[in-house]
Amino acid sequence: MREFLDRARAAADSSGRPGLGPMSDWEVFPFEREGLQARPLTEYAVPEPDRTRTPEACGTCKALTRDDLVLHVGERLAVVRPGGFNLPFVANVVSRAHETLDDLDDDAHAEMGRLIGRTYNALRALDGVGNVHVNKWENGGGHLSVTLLARPLGVLQLRGSNLSVWADMLPPTPAEEIDARAAQVRAALR
Ligand SMILES: [Zn+2]
Repeated sequence: MREFLDRARAAADSSGRPGLGPMSDWEVFPFEREGLQARPLTEYAVPEPDRTRTPEACGTCKALTRDDLVLHVGERLAVVRPGGFNLPFVANVVSRAHETLDDLDDDAHAEMGRLIGRTYNALRALDGVGNVHVNKWENGGGHLSVTLLARPLGVLQLRGSNLSVWADMLPPTPAEEIDARAAQVRAALR
């Protein structure tokens, strides 16, 4: 699999940076092309370093202990929300235990599908939501988390796979708005 990075390096410029892709011409791309450059490609790393957090250092494990952040508790999975966010709403379908998607059996897969669908519907039904995007990033921390991001209605520039990049640059959603929407999502998941 080393060929993957070798091929990318061969296509990069003299400082190891890949050129900008066609996405940079999309009208929903958050940045102007002028002056923008990719970071140089980094070194190959196999075996990959262990990035797993312990349950004590895990933000999802902490969220599961907080009544204000828990939106629903199922059999093996639950739905929580982050403490704060910059979009109309963000919810995470997570495992109740500190485990990853690799650890789930078929019954848990079925529960995950049901909870993603129900959480999608709950977020979609909120006032001022134009669409809901579903993502599994989790990124090696060791706790299954499927992230659902609600895009504000009518803000078409934020649509699609760049929504999380846009969200990073926007101001925090006021806590009282988050609390009111969390109550609606909690009721919808009951
Ligand atoms: Zn955890």
